[in-house]
Amino acid sequence: MGLDSVLRAMAPGAGPLDFLSLLVAATLVLVVTIVGTGLFLEVMNARHPELKVQRHRVNSRKWQELAYAPVSVLTTSLCFTAGLFAQTQGWTLAPLELSWWSVPLMFVINLVLYDAWFYWVHRLLHWRPMMRFHLVHHASLVPTCWSNHHDSLLDSFVFQFYFTLIVFVLPIPWPVLVAYKIFDEIIGMVGHSGYEHFASPLARTPWPLSSTVFHDQHHSHFRYNYAQTFSSWDRWMGTLYPGYDAAVADFEPEAVKRRTASAD
Ligand SMILES: [Zn+2]
Ligand SMILES: [Zn+2]
Repeated sequence: MGLDSVLRAMAPGAGPLDFLSLLVAATLVLVVTIVGTGLFLEVMNARHPELKVQRHRVNSRKWQELAYAPVSVLTTSLCFTAGLFAQTQGWTLAPLELSWWSVPLMFVINLVLYDAWFYWVHRLLHWRPMMRFHLVHHASLVPTCWSNHHDSLLDSFVFQFYFTLIVFVLPIPWPVLVAYKIFDEIIGMVGHSGYEHFASPLARTPWPLSSTVFHDQHHSHFRYNYAQTFSSWDRWMGTLYPGYDAAVADFEPEAVKRRTASAD
């Protein structure tokens, strides 16, 4: 499989075998992104023990969690490839031409839409009749970057089906969608990494961004912080963890410096 077979799969009139080539290519990109991000985070975490969110808890389930990754990654890849293939075959809304304004505009609209999808699908998965499909992901109270793909098939599917549907309602050019998906994998892993490397005032009120502490608290407290990139939906719907703003402020550089100095 080479670049030419991927390009052929993305030209109108492609067939099922071309779809398979595209699926393999998408899976490879995902695996490289996941392994690269995971190794980077492992090195960063080892260098900064002071940034561990749940200081007195340990996750020793890395390999048990990773056992779920092949099915989860393949589901992710399948949903994404289906959307990409549908668009390149001309079955969807015609995408915008790439330009200085269409690229950032489509990226940001997609980011906002996916965050809303993530929040509401996630709330649905915490509804009692659906909960059993989501419990696997909550088996670890202390997430690590490898927990991002620790989920059941249905759990993974309901989140990732967004990428099959979005091309039918948003004229997002495929390179923007690919860039977004890579970004989504990276922030998903950072959010599960268990170490707050990127704390900033932008991650607490009145700003809308979330953080690693944000999703970490979802794992440790279960019924709070359902969104992904922004804390807005949780603030509006009253599901933000009460101690969130103070907890993320505690990982900003000045606070970490004070804490480590007083421990010496
Ligand atoms: Zn959950
Ligand atoms: Zn999680």
